[in-house]
Amino acid sequence: MQNYNASADALDQKTILVTGAGDGIGRVAALTYAKHGATVILLGKTTKKLEAVYDEIVAAGYPQPAIVPMDLKGATKQNYRDLAATIEQQFGKLDGLLNNASILGSLGPLEHFCSSTFESIMKVNVTAQALLTKAMFPVLRKAPHASIIFTSSGVGREGREFWGAYSISKFATEGMMQTWSKEVGKTNIRINCINPGATRTSMRASAFPGEDRDKLATPEDLMPTYLYLMSDDSIEVNGQSLDAQPKK
Ligand code: NDP
Repeated sequence: MQNYNASADALDQKTILVTGAGDGIGRVAALTYAKHGATVILLGKTTKKLEAVYDEIVAAGYPQPAIVPMDLKGATKQNYRDLAATIEQQFGKLDGLLNNASILGSLGPLEHFCSSTFESIMKVNVTAQALLTKAMFPVLRKAPHASIIFTSSGVGREGREFWGAYSISKFATEGMMQTWSKEVGKTNIRINCINPGATRTSMRASAFPGEDRDKLATPEDLMPTYLYLMSDDSIEVNGQSLDAQPKK
């Protein structure tokens, strides 16, 4: 689906929650979903970044978005429940959830891992996404067709030395998607993963500081797959882990 061509109104009338919407891939996904007609709910840690995306969307004349400043490291079950209640009140339903926000932590041998970094990575990349997704189920059930996307990684499919807790968290993400997608079966909800592949963002730069950024795909290059899984063209797709870039 890397060559998917979404119609201009592919996401009309849809409300989509994007985590990590202030920067990197999440920012571009939010802008792209809005461009294709969705009302996007921008969730992220840094309010200023969310406000900048909000302004960009409004300036472009796309549907007015909403901002949810939230640190997934400290968020509680009650925070997620409150968010679901607000979404229900304001929009009546949720058609899409892009679980995109993640942290890399520091790379190094597992033998020397730092327990607090390990816990933070698991909290943000796995537990918070599970809790947020669980809390959104009642509003997702109110949509005619709802799409949940988790964000995987190459190191979530095959372990790589020194990628430590981040790699483990991405294996957990793939497992969560597989398990949950089997449980939803043929309901109105479908659950899939996207592996973005090497992409020009701050996270990639912190993992490979010496790399030539110009040789990397941009977040915009990945958007056909992000649009495909959010649009009704993927209604029958459940339990898949898709690559957003051709394999090198
Ligand atoms: P970035 O670091 O560029 O952006 C991550 C986003 O997540 C930021 O908006 C950040 O907000 C937000 N975020 C981080 N921690 C929290 C938190 N505790 N609470 C709320 N929001 C948070 O990452 P990418 O865009 O590169 O990555 C997006 C996804 O793609 C991730 O899941 C990543 O693992 C995955 N991925 C990326 C690849 C790449 O090459 N870039 C390759 C494979 C997978 P803020 O800026 O405010 O901190």
